[in-house]
Amino acid sequence: MKVVCAGGGPASLYLAILLKARHRGWDVSVHERNPAGATYGWGVTYWPEMLETLAAHDDVSARAIEKHSVRWNGGVAHIRDRTTTHHGDEGFAIGRHRLLEILAERATSLGVDVHYGHVLTPESPALEGDLIVAGDGSRSRLRDQHAEHFGTQVSLGNNRFVWLGTTRVFRSFTFAFVETDHGWLWCYAYGFDGTHSTCIVECSPRTWAGLGLDAMERADALKLLEDLLAEPLRGHPLIDRTDADGPSPWQRFRTVTNRVWSHGNLVLLGDAAHTTHYSIGAGTTLAMQDAMALARALSEPGTLPSALGRYERVRRRELLPLQSAARHSANWYENLTRYIHLEPHEMFALLGQRHSPLLPHIPPQLYYRVDRAVDRTQALRSLKGWLGPRVARLLQKK
Ligand SMILES: Cc1cc2nc3c(=O)[nH]c(=O)nc-3n(C[C@H](O)[C@H](O)[C@H](O)COP(=O)(O)OP(=O)(O)OC[C@H]3O[C@@H](n4cnc5c(N)ncnc54)[C@H](O)[C@@H]3O)c2cc1C
Repeated sequence: MKVVCAGGGPASLYLAILLKARHRGWDVSVHERNPAGATYGWGVTYWPEMLETLAAHDDVSARAIEKHSVRWNGGVAHIRDRTTTHHGDEGFAIGRHRLLEILAERATSLGVDVHYGHVLTPESPALEGDLIVAGDGSRSRLRDQHAEHFGTQVSLGNNRFVWLGTTRVFRSFTFAFVETDHGWLWCYAYGFDGTHSTCIVECSPRTWAGLGLDAMERADALKLLEDLLAEPLRGHPLIDRTDADGPSPWQRFRTVTNRVWSHGNLVLLGDAAHTTHYSIGAGTTLAMQDAMALARALSEPGTLPSALGRYERVRRRELLPLQSAARHSANWYENLTRYIHLEPHEMFALLGQRHSPLLPHIPPQLYYRVDRAVDRTQALRSLKGWLGPRVARLLQKK
């Protein structure tokens, strides 16, 4: 069996590892357009359970990922000049660069051909194989060539965001909301190694244009953001991508869905198949879980079309609650003014509830009070757990 994976992100690399580890005789290759070591983004978070899942699939890469990850504990929210904390949550983070390095090294050691600096187009001779995997990200060219068949839909979020790094190492998952003359601007930050953190800055289009960020030189924009976020950054700099003369790093989030996930021997994987808003910190995990499901389906007896069908059915079902959570989470930030004037501890509590399908339909303060009361009573907590998804389904049908 010859498997050609387009894109050297977590989805393709992890699939290549799992396939080659199970089927030593298969010819598996990965083709990445960027040079080795060049990638977008800073650190990515994941939840503790992910390490167990990774270890069950490939212990060698799981151990390397754990070794190079850092753990963050609890949450901190800076809202205006007040700070509120939340204990309990904990997760991991790793530099995207480091993660890809670990996966590429493991893939190569198993005998996968990993090629860098190789842009694949639908006409590329390299796309000859029994199975072609479009792991080429949310703007997948291989998918877009058959966009009608796949039923690809892309919707753009309203808010503008930029994915930056900083040398301030945040040990807790940190949010900071600052009020400007043109509305609110906020960041999410977490450490991902011993010296750096991710810092994603987001605001509404009105704030973005009002502050002049739409037309500002990149260095000036960075300076302005450093000034606005001086308190949580404690004087540390923000760091932009290295290609400072490239296109503007400000983006609108692209939510991608596809009606079907395969076309003949071409199959979609990871962000090429589906994206979930970054505020739920799950896209990398989901891309690697796609790889697990596809590798499993391909290893079971049966034809290629039946394997691709099984993969798609399993992943669609598993993704549904996360896609819903991601949609509500993105909407929460797009409707920040509904929550920002609450007391900081109330606002932070509802930030933690942003995935709830009920929250947009209930006055925030009432939701907060009922939620607190419910959490104090076991019976009501069970009722909430039972009722939530049902009401959500009813609301979706409207
Ligand atoms: C701001 C932000 C923050 C995020 N934070 C998190 C987080 O904390 N936790 C988390 O789990 N996820 C996070 N994500 C999501 C995560 O980055 C993606 O979901 C994940 O990288 C998807 O993996 P992938 O392999 O499918 O695609 P990608 O990682 O996008 O990889 C696709 C690869 O294909 C290459 N490529 C594209 N076209 C071609 C071509 N024609 N030929 C060859 N190569 C090509 C690209 O260069 C790229 O390397 C975040 C995303 C954003 C935008």
